[in-house]
Amino acid sequence: MAERRGRGASREEAATIRIGHGIDIHPLAEGRRLMLGGMRIPSRQGLVGHSDADVLIHAVCDALLGAAGLPDLGRRFPDTDGKHRGRASIEFLKDVGGEIRRLGFSLINLDAVLLAEAPRLEPHLNGMRRRMAGALGCPLSSIGLKVKRAEGLGSIGRAEGMMAQVVALLGPADLGGSHRRLGGRRKRTAKRSRKDTGRGR
Ligand code: MG
Repeated sequence: MAERRGRGASREEAATIRIGHGIDIHPLAEGRRLMLGGMRIPSRQGLVGHSDADVLIHAVCDALLGAAGLPDLGRRFPDTDGKHRGRASIEFLKDVGGEIRRLGFSLINLDAVLLAEAPRLEPHLNGMRRRMAGALGCPLSSIGLKVKRAEGLGSIGRAEGMMAQVVALLGPADLGGSHRRLGGRRKRTAKRSRKDTGRGR
């Protein structure tokens, strides 16, 4: 098969089921906003990075890009490019979702694990899921998310940073994948996520 040089999976490949894996880690610091899954989370500290440092969305994007045979987020939105400074990572996710659809895929599901010591994130899990489902145009049931503590072990356990790991499964859009099935649910997902966060971006 001919090398496609970062253009992603071929039409033939998009007719199959493909898995992707993403991982990301960012340090925490005072004076930064904490953005996770496209939501602002109340916290004394926030993640440090070139964009808004949304570690969860970065790992989701890398899982989706990997499944689609595309280069990772760092190559798609390089941190050497000043125009991405401080950028909301939910925009990256919308872009990646569009790219996946362009290649003929739809998201079957993804499952994400967020490793974080503090603050307590359980109350925000559904809000983050709704935000990400809204950005990807997929049903809420396609987005799995859980949070784990490192029980004081290592840098994550000492609350020096947060880590996210994600696996994602893509299937062919013409099998009636999530973005097609969504139809009338898109509006409701987006509306719910605004209501859930109670604040603008
Ligand atoms: Mg990152």
